[in-house]
Amino acid sequence: MSKDQGKDPLRRYREKRDFTLTAEPQGSVAPSASGDPRFVVQRHRASRLHYDFRLEIDGVLASWSVPKGPTLDPSTRRLAVRVEDHPLDYFDFEGVIPTGGYGGGDVVVWDWGTWRSGHGDPAHDLAAGDLHLDLHGEKLGGRFALVRRGKPSSTREQWLLVHKDDDAAVRGWNPEDYPRSVRSGLTNDEVVERGTRPAGLG
Ligand code: MN
Repeated sequence: MSKDQGKDPLRRYREKRDFTLTAEPQGSVAPSASGDPRFVVQRHRASRLHYDFRLEIDGVLASWSVPKGPTLDPSTRRLAVRVEDHPLDYFDFEGVIPTGGYGGGDVVVWDWGTWRSGHGDPAHDLAAGDLHLDLHGEKLGGRFALVRRGKPSSTREQWLLVHKDDDAAVRGWNPEDYPRSVRSGLTNDEVVERGTRPAGLG
């Protein structure tokens, strides 16, 4: 996906948004932090409910939209549609995106933590369409595979997200049973009730 984004990996992210309307961060490409890279999963009620699955790779958050959300159930495959890279400061974004703008709706930080690549260099694996992830989150843990279906594309590649059958696997595990934010403890409805300011600020 980086091919047509030129020097600025966040160009597509910024083009989709009007920052006079949304409180989402404008973003900058940060130097890689020390320690393990981070991941975040946001529960986003837009025109359709989905979970945004984001992995810190090379100074941005590589991102997928997962309609049914990630699961610890190793017998279930989840569709994950690759979307534009997001800035690292999206990591703890929680709040209301104005209706009518791109992604209008409400967002909670559903899970966060760090991750490690199970093999090789993450940027290489991302380009190759075959990532193996060890997640250390508050809800998600254990080994996941994230694999591209079909050929690389500049937009909306379809990937599959699968949990391996390891010690962290739980059959029948449903993300909707654990709806609260790991940042604020709030549900999406409670974030809306608090208004458009990001929870925890001001
Ligand atoms: Mn989203």
